[in-house]
Amino acid sequence: ERFTVGLTGGIGSGKTTIANMFADFGASIIDTDVIAHQLTQSGGIAMPVIREQFGVAYLTDDGAMNRTRMRELVFADSNAKQKLENILHPLIHQETEKAAGAATGLYLIFVVPLLIESATWRNKVSRILVVDCEEQTQIQRVMTRNNLSEEQVRAIMRAQASRQQRQEAADDLIFNDGDLSSVKAEVRALHEHYASLAKLSTN
Ligand code: ATP
Repeated sequence: ERFTVGLTGGIGSGKTTIANMFADFGASIIDTDVIAHQLTQSGGIAMPVIREQFGVAYLTDDGAMNRTRMRELVFADSNAKQKLENILHPLIHQETEKAAGAATGLYLIFVVPLLIESATWRNKVSRILVVDCEEQTQIQRVMTRNNLSEEQVRAIMRAQASRQQRQEAADDLIFNDGDLSSVKAEVRALHEHYASLAKLSTN
């Protein structure tokens, strides 16, 4: 079994920032948000079935998924949300496996925003790393980055696992509320730990 870390955390907690630090130390990063984006780009392998099941109204002129429309639909309609997930989730797992097979790093990190919420993902990884931060910090970061209101950010957060649920599911935690240089030191220590666990699991 290849050693794999599932990296998760709430919106704006700093998953991408921290995954990039691990990449600098030699881990291979597979980001499921990036995969989901590729699947639904123009020419993406999910597009024929999305077109068939949702209709051209949910496509852009160049044949990508119309993200704004689809977001509005699945927010209002849980059946549509389920239908979209039934299309995307198997493809995301398939593409993750493919990327994992090609990855050459010391070990793998899967970045999965809703990992805690999914039994399939929890069972797929050797270890769960949670990027933790104060809710107020998440709200501030996402309001600034995405130009959203506090209420809009809170609505997204309510649809995700709570901070406490994530902490309880974590094997390892990185607190990402402070300055990035102290976070980098935490990442270095965890990386060394993971590198030694990865050696044990391949020998
Ligand atoms: P999302 O779930 O929305 O994709 P994420 O968890 O991947 O977000 P990032 O994109 O890494 O989070 O970080 C969110 C924002 O906060 C970014 O603009 C990033 O530059 C900033 N940020 C992350 N960590 C810190 C930190 N320790 N100090 C200051 N800013 C930070």
